[in-house]
Order: sequence, then C-alpha cells, then structure tokens
Amino acid sequence: MNDAMKDRAPAFLRNVLEGVRRLAPYEPGMPIEELQRRLGVAEAVKLASNENPLGISPKVRAALERASAGPLERYPDGSGFRLKRKLAELHRIEPERITLGNGSNDILEFVARVFLGPGRAALFSRHAFAVYPIATQAQGADAVVVPALPATSAQPYGHDLDGFAAALRPDVSVIFIANPNNPTGTWLQPGALERFLADVPAHVIVVLDEAYWHYQDPATRPDARAWLERFPNLVVARTFSKVHGLAALRVGYALSHAGVADLMNRVRQPFNNNGLALLAAEVALEDEAFVQRSVALNTAQRERLEREFKALGLIVLPSQANFLAVGFGRDAAPVHQGLLERGVIVRPMKSYGLPQFLRVTVGLDAENTRLLAALKEVLGT
Ligand SMILES: *Cc1c(COP(=O)(O)O)cnc(C)c1O
Repeated sequence: MNDAMKDRAPAFLRNVLEGVRRLAPYEPGMPIEELQRRLGVAEAVKLASNENPLGISPKVRAALERASAGPLERYPDGSGFRLKRKLAELHRIEPERITLGNGSNDILEFVARVFLGPGRAALFSRHAFAVYPIATQAQGADAVVVPALPATSAQPYGHDLDGFAAALRPDVSVIFIANPNNPTGTWLQPGALERFLADVPAHVIVVLDEAYWHYQDPATRPDARAWLERFPNLVVARTFSKVHGLAALRVGYALSHAGVADLMNRVRQPFNNNGLALLAAEVALEDEAFVQRSVALNTAQRERLEREFKALGLIVLPSQANFLAVGFGRDAAPVHQGLLERGVIVRPMKSYGLPQFLRVTVGLDAENTRLLAALKEVLGT
C-alpha cells in the first residue's frame, strides 16, 4: 500500500450508516488464551463472562459426542421443531409463541430490527446490559437512558421503574429490562414489575431479559410466563448460555405473543441455530439435576465471595445472579491489571459507567480461592 492510499479515507466510509459510524463494538471478557498469549501467564482463571463453572451437563456432553460423530452435512431444522416442543411443554405455551435465537443476543437484535429505526427510541437503564445500546444504535434509533437508582438505594445502580415511566416519550417503541441486571446483579420486585407492565402503553414492546432467572431467589423471582397472557407487548428472553453452560453453542429464546414471534421470525436467519446447538439445548432441558447443582454451587460461592470481599473492606452490590459487582472506592483499572498479571480474568465495568467496580463471575471453590488470594496480593492486605 502506498502512502497516498493510506492517508485517504476509503470511499465506502461515506456510505456507512450514521448509527453504525458512532458505534463502539461490544467488549467481550478476555479469553483465557489471550491472557496466556499477552502476559505469558499459565493456567489462567476466567471469571469474566458469567459462564457456568461446572461446564455442561454430562448428558449434553454425551449427546454432542454422539451427534458430532454422525452426519453434519445437512442443514439443521430451521424451525427448531423439537427444541420448541420441549420449551412449549416446559412453559405451557404454544410453540408459535416461541422464537429461537443464536443466543438471546439474537432475540434482542430481532426486537431491534422489527421495532427500532430512525425516529424511534429504545428506553433502558444506565448501567444495563451493553447489547441494548448497541442494538438500538445500529438501527439508527435513539436511546433514552434512564438514570439508575442511587448508590444508597436497596438496589444500588439498579433499574428505577418510576424513572422508566417518567422517561417514556411518544417515540419509544421498545423498553429493555434486565432482571437481574448485568453488570450490577440487582433485581426488581415482581409486584413492582407487574404494575409497571400494566402501566406501559400497549404499543410499546417490553423485553424482559431473564438471562439469570435460575439463579434468583424463588421468593422474588417473577413468573413472567403468566404475565404474557395479560400483556401482549411483553417479550421474555431466556438463554442457554448461563445456567445450562452452553455459551459456546449460542442458543437463546423468546416467549411472546404469537404476532410478535411471527414478526421476529421474518428477520431471523433461516438457520440461526446450528444443529448441534439445538440438540444440546434439548438435552440440557432434560437435566434438571445439573441445573440444581449449578444453582446450589453458585448460591454458596456467591455468599462466600460476598462475605470475603466485604471483609476486605470492598463494596459489594446485592446480586441474584452468578456474578458480583465489587467496588473499590477508586479507579478499579489497576486492580483489574494486577489480577490479570496473576492469571485471574475479571470484567472491568468502566464501559458500563462504573469505573470503580469490577464484575466477578462466581467460579468453582478453587477458582474463587485463587481470585481472593490474588486480590489480597493486589490490595496489599
Ligand atoms: C449473558 C446475557 C445474555 C445472553 O447472552 P447469549 O449468550 O447471547 O444468550 C442476555 N442478556 C444478559 C443481561 C446477559 O447477561
């Protein structure tokens, strides 16, 4: 390439959509291999992407091994018939009201593609899941970002539903709610959520993103499935990436009104779920014991981490998910770096507007022990 070519902006840049031009890409948690490459750290521990530290159900593993030895040249079932049938049974809902996604990220994109565009707006909380602003902006829609609850609230930095209602504008066509929220771990009371849904104008789609539903305390966990009958504008998003441990395979789904499912199906890629992923998700639904084991481990280790972080004088946001947001009362970047140098990967929250916090996924007992030891070294305690 000569210098003249290097200096001149390529002509195609003139045609980039405005929303995309201003977009910053999603920053994923650092893969273990990358840390090993960058810092030469052996045996790194990754507690950065809220994956299941137990891996996947042994039943799913066995099914995948059998299936990957078989034919792979055929397209998968583009309708996901078998997985939908299982989900329909589980949620006691008609298959026509289920939409399968390549991760629930795909579901968020479908909603954005169907309901957002120039002249429309999506409403969501500050410090909410990073994909909401990305999906909104990529569509050229406006974002109405609702200030979060104050640090002193019972749900610090969590969703403020009164604030949501107050911020509603006529151009809002989608509301994104993460419950529990990522990256704060905070949650909403079912009664408050239900009242909010009852007050939202019926033409506004409300996406209730329940990626961490299984990890919630059953006492404060909503039964959003029941609400679907009353609120045809409600879309409930779930994923197989978290408690089921299938993050690498990419399967999520939505429960909604059949009309919303029909619209999402129009923008869905014909084969958005690969065949092995569909199979893995089906088998995962059969292994309830694995889910229970995963939840029990998470609850016990989350309590332990919370206790130990607090003993170190750190701020810990209340969490009903499989991660904790930990505050240091000062810029957390040096702590993040110190942990990386000790082979422990956690997630900075600067891009979420919380630069003094790190998000730590609850790991196995030994992983958490390693994290705590590294943290004590970094903090010099
Ligand atoms: C992890 C996560 C998802 C889903 O991720 P997928 O792997 O795409 O299913 C969705 N919403 C929130 C809030 C999450 O944290």
